[in-house]
Amino acid sequence: MAAIDGLPPLREVISTHGLAAKKSLGQNFLLDLNLTAKIARQAGDLTECDVLEIGPGPGGLTRGLLSEGARKVLAIEKDARCLPALAEVAAHYPGRLQVIEGDALQIDPLEHLTPPIRIAANLPYNVGTELLVRWLTPPEWPPFWESLTLMFQREVAERIVAQPGSKAYGRLALLASWRAEARIAISLPPEAFTPPPKVSSAVVHLTALPEPRYPADPKVLERVVARAFNQRRKMLRAALKGIAPDLEDRLLASGIQPTDRAETVGLEQFCALARNIAAG
Ligand code: SAM
Repeated sequence: MAAIDGLPPLREVISTHGLAAKKSLGQNFLLDLNLTAKIARQAGDLTECDVLEIGPGPGGLTRGLLSEGARKVLAIEKDARCLPALAEVAAHYPGRLQVIEGDALQIDPLEHLTPPIRIAANLPYNVGTELLVRWLTPPEWPPFWESLTLMFQREVAERIVAQPGSKAYGRLALLASWRAEARIAISLPPEAFTPPPKVSSAVVHLTALPEPRYPADPKVLERVVARAFNQRRKMLRAALKGIAPDLEDRLLASGIQPTDRAETVGLEQFCALARNIAAG
């Protein structure tokens, strides 16, 4: 029997195309099309947007994005075994799905997309954080994307939305709040996936800010924050040692005590420090 979108159910797609999940590619598939449509709806109104999807796999979320009206989906998938299944989806939605086989870390999707652009993905866990940091630190404002709707392990999702002073607060929370409004949109138990991962997951929705909350050079901010949290238990005068001459004066001028630890320092102070360091 056909699924709600008229295509075969995902279990059938997986068995027809022999898509046994590969751990090395972080494959935990979503097979419930009601759930993938719900995730697609979190991404906002897609009818006027191109959507970039990383790791479509057998196409569950891809089908959700298309049935929710995405103008076009560009899907980048590393596993060539998934391409025939995705070709069936493309044939069902003529002219609206483009699939590129390859590694999302190596491909520049922009030449295939027309703004406005949203990004939605059930990310492979091994590359998810790296892609997120890239999307959060491009040189331009606003970024090329309007929103990110991304599945992460619950613990990573909590790090993205964390507030200063909490255990989860760190590099991801700072970069996310500098560039976007971030919230956890959906929480999912392991059983929502096939095969179930060991941990719970959550969909995080980030809406791009038109301007930075506080000015700073993205690369300098990223470097300062990465160094500060690399040794999060240390006082900042030790954790950031060597990052710039006269460090203690720079910290004080940025509203930070040299004895503060990174986890208690807010975005405004980190941006002030990044500006101070960039000024030389
Ligand atoms: N979107 C599908 C779903 O929700 O059922 C699959 C999600 S699965 C967690 C992650 C997908 O990303 C897999 O299909 C995997 O092959 C693909 N993948 C893994 N590493 C990748 C990479 N570097 N670039 C592109 N796709 C990748």
